[in-house]
Amino acid sequence: MKHLMKIYAGFFLIIAVAIVYMYFSLEKMQHELAANIEKLFLSQAHSYALNIENHLKKKIKGNFHTFLLRHPKVQQELSEELSLLVTDAFRYIFVLYEDSSGDFRFLLDASKEESGEFGEKLGVDSSLWRHVCHMQTPQLIHHKNFDELWITYVYPIVVDGTTEAVVAIDFSTTFSKNLESALSPLKQGFLYIFIIIFIILLLLLYQTFLNFKTKKESITDTLTQVYNRNYLREFLKRTDIGGYQIIMLDIDHFKKVNDTYGHRIGDYILRDVAAIIQEEVRSSDVLVRYGGEEFLIFIKNDKDPKLARTIAQRIRKRIEKTTFRYDDVEIHLTVSMGITLLPKHFKNISEAIKNADEMLYIAKKEGRNRVISKRVYDANEEVVQQNRLRINEVKNAIEEGRIVCHYQPIFNAKTAKISKYEALVRLVDEEGELVYPGSFLEMILHTNLYTQMTKNILEIVFETIREKRVKIGVNLNFSDILNDDIFKMIIEELQKHKKVASWLVLELLEYEALEANESFTRKIKEIKSYGVNIAIDDFGSGFANYKIFQMMPIDVIKIDGSLIQNLDSSDVAQTIVKSIVVLTNELGIETVAEFVHSKAVMEKAKELGVTHLQGFYLAKPSAKIN
Ligand code: GH3
Ligand code: MG
Ligand code: MG
Repeated sequence: MKHLMKIYAGFFLIIAVAIVYMYFSLEKMQHELAANIEKLFLSQAHSYALNIENHLKKKIKGNFHTFLLRHPKVQQELSEELSLLVTDAFRYIFVLYEDSSGDFRFLLDASKEESGEFGEKLGVDSSLWRHVCHMQTPQLIHHKNFDELWITYVYPIVVDGTTEAVVAIDFSTTFSKNLESALSPLKQGFLYIFIIIFIILLLLLYQTFLNFKTKKESITDTLTQVYNRNYLREFLKRTDIGGYQIIMLDIDHFKKVNDTYGHRIGDYILRDVAAIIQEEVRSSDVLVRYGGEEFLIFIKNDKDPKLARTIAQRIRKRIEKTTFRYDDVEIHLTVSMGITLLPKHFKNISEAIKNADEMLYIAKKEGRNRVISKRVYDANEEVVQQNRLRINEVKNAIEEGRIVCHYQPIFNAKTAKISKYEALVRLVDEEGELVYPGSFLEMILHTNLYTQMTKNILEIVFETIREKRVKIGVNLNFSDILNDDIFKMIIEELQKHKKVASWLVLELLEYEALEANESFTRKIKEIKSYGVNIAIDDFGSGFANYKIFQMMPIDVIKIDGSLIQNLDSSDVAQTIVKSIVVLTNELGIETVAEFVHSKAVMEKAKELGVTHLQGFYLAKPSAKIN
């Protein structure tokens, strides 16, 4: 709309300039024409004057005044001859002489009516005539005060160095008047066109303004004066949503406000909350009333990945601190927000908005008055499900080397010293936040990405072992071992760096190991032959199948968290663990209690004879090994 106004304004300006230019060109043309006519007249008048001079010199002998005074007949003849020269343009032609007192008097006059009598004094200022007379050079006089006269050519007739007379030839204004009257309709035409165009453009401008106003009304929410859904539709159509982050905001317990204070006050609150949000966002951000008491905010963002979160928190705190006062009531409110930080990772814009809505739902569920912007990694399965990464995010992370390992120490139960570590995979997302395997492993399990990721992990672990010279366990699954590339990679490393073999522990899942085929077992045995320790992970998670001790050359049993977690209180768990310990002791196999989360559990595990301990109570995984 603004664009259209600009076009109109530009158009208007061009037309106006063109018309003004033409008007002045015409004016200039008129002047030039007048000047040319003047030149023409001048040359004409000059040749008239020359002819008159020659003629008079031939006819008059001696002093002009004296001669003509004596010869009235000649005077008569000459006046008549002169009158033949008079035309519409050359209106007056007459000859004057200067008397002894310096006045100018008529010698001859060509005009028929009101002609000057011989010797009659010329009734106008004679200084100009005198000048011509004395300087003996012709001159042009422009008249301003006479209606009919335009210019007069004054020519001196000099005989033997004396100015005998001056010839005056008047050019009438008829020509210039004709010229003026020929051109003035054109000039006026231009003026009219200009005025008409001006009026039309004014009307157009007014129309545009009206359209603009109606348009603005149709995209504005009447209650809150922020954009409505009509605008949202248009905005989404023409906007690359990749440049924005999306906040979905909802007022907490708004129904209660309505129920307690009435709809009218509810409306005031909506209006004021909208105003607060509008104040807290920038002019490049877009605020839309999405539903009853729900607002969508598009935060324009190109650099800071946490910007939407910062702004959302600012809004949240401001509303939390605000006392809404109406009549004699004071109301305190909170709002909840869900954010989609990276809308471009979604299939389309509605998915991205839906994600913000899901985040909002989590914010509500977690107690309101909060901002949830991303995957929440907690034991709550439902939440983790909702917040899984997209396959593209995982792919990018793997390709860009954003797969990292964190290391959790495993302690010797007797010495309480760190005896080794377990490498745990993490993904660093685009915002630099850690993502846990629960949010990405499963979806890539049977894809090439998984193989690639395993290789990356192995590379990291090998390097860490070489550098830190510590024992590190790495989790591999059935298909990893069967994968020729991965197997080859392991063997090559073991051959190249003999030391690595004694520091490497392969952790295999119990149920996978149980399904081992011949090829799997052969490969495990080959790896072990270099001195690598083989551990069975999550032992007891489902089977606690003792058959495994016959199938695999096992060095370590890691007792599953489900048995350890309540070891201090569950008799059954204690009995099972005790039996595992008895068995492994006999077989010379190490045991690791996983998930040691309290002192009581740790004490119990020690008491039962578990040789190694791992868990949050002792140490959390960390990015570095000291
Ligand atoms: P929650 O914390 O879960 O968001 O609870 P809530 O009560 O805020 O949410 P709910 O969606 O249950 O209720 C929203 C209420 O907003 C219901 C509706 O009457 C009210 N509402 C919607 N539009 C308007 C409006 O234009 N003016 C007023 N005064 N109230 C509105
Ligand atoms: Mg609400
Ligand atoms: Mg609601």
